[in-house]
Amino acid sequence: MDFGEFLKPPKKSTLEDKLFLVKFKVDKEPHLKIIDSNVCTTVCKEQGCLYVCPVQNYTLQDEKVNLSWEGCVECGSCRVTCKFDNIDWKYPRGGFGVLFRLG
Ligand code: SF4
Ligand code: SF4
Repeated sequence: MDFGEFLKPPKKSTLEDKLFLVKFKVDKEPHLKIIDSNVCTTVCKEQGCLYVCPVQNYTLQDEKVNLSWEGCVECGSCRVTCKFDNIDWKYPRGGFGVLFRLG
C-alpha cells in the first residue's frame, strides 16, 4: 500500500464538480419569474441576482435582466437577494426540478 497517497488530504471539490452530481427533470412551466422587469432596469442598482446565482440563471443582455429556470438548484439565494421582492419564486411542481445525488 502507498501510504503517501493514503495520507494526502482529500481533493477539494469545486462548484463545477458538485454541479456535475445533480440531475434535473425540467418542467416546461417556469417556477421562477421576474415580476416587473422595469424594476430591474430602473430602480434596482445592485442587480444582486446576477451575482448570487450559483448556476448563472440570471444574465444581462442589452441591459435587460433575463432569467432561465432550467438549471435552478432551488437554493433561494435570488429570492433573498432581491430587495424589491421582484421574483415570483416557487418550488417546481411535484416530480420536477433538481435531484441531488450523493448528498
Ligand atoms: S435583484 Fe430583483 S429587482 Fe434587482 S435585477 Fe434582480 S430580479 Fe430585478
Ligand atoms: S434559486 Fe438559486 S439556483 Fe435557482 S435561480 Fe435562484 S439563485 Fe439561481
